[in-house]
Amino acid sequence: MNAKDDGPRSAGFSARASREGGVSHDGARAFSPRGSTKYETVPHVVDQAPENVAAHHIPPQSGLALQLEAGQTLRIIDREGGQVSDIVAFAADDTAEAISNGRTLDYNGTMRLTTGHILYSNRARPMFTITEDTVGVHDFTLAPCSQEMFELLHGVTDPHPSCFGNLVEALAPYLISPDAIPTAFNAFMNVRIDPNGDITVLPPTCRPGDHIDLRAEIDLLVGITACSAEQSNGGAFKPIDVRILD
Ligand SMILES: [Zn+2]
Repeated sequence: MNAKDDGPRSAGFSARASREGGVSHDGARAFSPRGSTKYETVPHVVDQAPENVAAHHIPPQSGLALQLEAGQTLRIIDREGGQVSDIVAFAADDTAEAISNGRTLDYNGTMRLTTGHILYSNRARPMFTITEDTVGVHDFTLAPCSQEMFELLHGVTDPHPSCFGNLVEALAPYLISPDAIPTAFNAFMNVRIDPNGDITVLPPTCRPGDHIDLRAEIDLLVGITACSAEQSNGGAFKPIDVRILD
């Protein structure tokens, strides 16, 4: 990480804080996964954005959790270009309902999800609609990068930041267990599947400022990362910016 990665717009939400379980989310309230009336106040750190737009900065190799109300749009921005962001979602009224890659790919009939496509839950409810997409290259097949993946595929035995680890920590305050984290929608991830079945992870094609907009169709709890895998991000780790548009 260099100085520009953690510039003024980060507003103090550091990668360290995030990896250690820090949570930044719109509205500064955490809901009970089972819908009880118990609320707790959670530190709310945002950078400057236009009125009525909540903004979050995800430093390299970190993640956060936030809440969305139905109708709000989550904008995922690759500020510097070439950076993957893993996104998972749970229904706010019952977090056993989670985003489903199998149902989404099946119901849309394509591996190339982009503007107009719907991301479904494991109960076949629409969770997001992609309303804008300046990239058109995303993955919804591969699991979030994890300590185990780095060891199995790359022989890494030292601790390595990972999307899975960052999602686990960001979502733990919402009582999401590690086993409940689904395959993420991997925004900007460039995965090639050859006719013979070989899978190749290529650098993202996105340029600085590219984004994808996901409109929440129901109230959601969302986990988002700036991916930690060298192999998915062209060998460099960049931040991800997030906006919530009403
Ligand atoms: Zn990752």
